[in-house]
Amino acid sequence: MANEEGRTIQDRLRKLPSVDELLKHPQIQETLQHVPRKIVVESLRETLESVRHRLLSPSDGPSAEPPSPDLVVQQSLVLCAKKNAFTLQPVVNATGIVVHTNLGRSLLAEEAIQRLQMVCRSYSNLEYDLSRGRRGSRYVHAEAILREITGAEAALVVNNNAAAVFLVLNTLAKEREVIVSRGQLVEIGGSFRIPDVMAASGAILREVGCTNRTHLHDYENAIGERTRLLMKVHCSNYRLIGFTAEVPLEDLVCLARRRNLLVAEDLGSGSLVDVSPLGLPREPTAQEAVRAGVDVVTFSGDKLLGGPQAGIILGRQELIAQCKKNPLTRALRVDKMTLAALEATLRLYRDEPTAWRRIPTLEMIARPLETLKEAAHRLAQGIRDLNGGAHQWDVHVLESTSQVGGGALPERNLPTFVVAVASPRWSAARLEERLRAHNPPIIGRIESDRFLMDVRTLQKGDDEIILHAFAALAA
Ligand SMILES: *Cc1c(COP(=O)(O)O)cnc(C)c1O
Repeated sequence: MANEEGRTIQDRLRKLPSVDELLKHPQIQETLQHVPRKIVVESLRETLESVRHRLLSPSDGPSAEPPSPDLVVQQSLVLCAKKNAFTLQPVVNATGIVVHTNLGRSLLAEEAIQRLQMVCRSYSNLEYDLSRGRRGSRYVHAEAILREITGAEAALVVNNNAAAVFLVLNTLAKEREVIVSRGQLVEIGGSFRIPDVMAASGAILREVGCTNRTHLHDYENAIGERTRLLMKVHCSNYRLIGFTAEVPLEDLVCLARRRNLLVAEDLGSGSLVDVSPLGLPREPTAQEAVRAGVDVVTFSGDKLLGGPQAGIILGRQELIAQCKKNPLTRALRVDKMTLAALEATLRLYRDEPTAWRRIPTLEMIARPLETLKEAAHRLAQGIRDLNGGAHQWDVHVLESTSQVGGGALPERNLPTFVVAVASPRWSAARLEERLRAHNPPIIGRIESDRFLMDVRTLQKGDDEIILHAFAALAA
């Protein structure tokens, strides 16, 4: 009995097509035009393996018929597409969070993308001094424009702001004390914690004040033999409200001058323009920090600045020179793509209205409410009109708020319009999951069992992608 059963299973297994046979299938032949053979063969092999496994499994083995070659091919193609997909891919950001660290932070200005391509397509004077015909320094490239825009004596660009803070502390305060207010010992996320970074850099943290209030005399009383630096950290992602006190930067600078110490500021986002005319809370700009007399300022290149990932260090000539000489700088150095994109982005700041228009991060933050409203209604109507207007979706335009993100301006404080979609067929969670699985994925948020898409962060062409995704879901 068992033997007979075994024989019929063997017969069925024998009926399965071989990889070689399947490779001749027209759809596989077509796929081989654009997918490497190795991936196609692997997919066929794995699909056949799982079919065999199923036929042999006692649960449905005896009665299961072997799938047709067509079916095996279809299954392999799904697997093949998965294997051949890029892991890093574009997504539609419908979250309304402009500087979304998980979604790649800032989009680059077209000008920056062009320079980036140019420097990749041709050789460049990255480390070549053209006037002298000999080896030069890569650090000169972004430095000139940074000095011009911020008024700083000198500048250095490293891999990101975490690296910038680390390098500054390691160079200027290794084995020396750095005084920081308890209210500014922040965790930025992604395991960047000021106390940890400080410990890793070799600087010794000296906390002063209380969580909510720190006074100038707290700093003053903490100054001792080993003190080297007074540090101010921008509380990027949280805000102290209520009974609070912070020492103004100018006062810290005065104190440091009197006691022959240095002042460093980690600005975090470090905007180069004032965002308060948009109704946002006042953010200190990098220029203001320089003007206040801070010895060293650090900030990110891809937050409010709207450039590539980078950490920018501005400061006094001799201090920046010390940072450049630190052997760690070699480990934190930026590549030519970063420098090309950063220089092009910074040049747009020579004319502020141009910066607001051309830098996507700034443009999205400044998008007029009226434009957002129109965009939301257009998208909502598009979804309603799908499938000949057969009301598949319950679509509304709602007032809501967007976030700047990237740790800048933590409250939801940019008024916006969102398209809210509910479905009688699917829960919001299921809808969210399906849209996230779309190609390209659409990332929104759920509120009151509705899927919300904030139009502020949508780019040209995203409407079509969203409509296509909803049409496919309805089908
Ligand atoms: C974001 C941030 C950092 C880290 O900057 P990265 O460019 O992400 O490395 C450090 N400090 C503050 C205050 C920040 O907001």
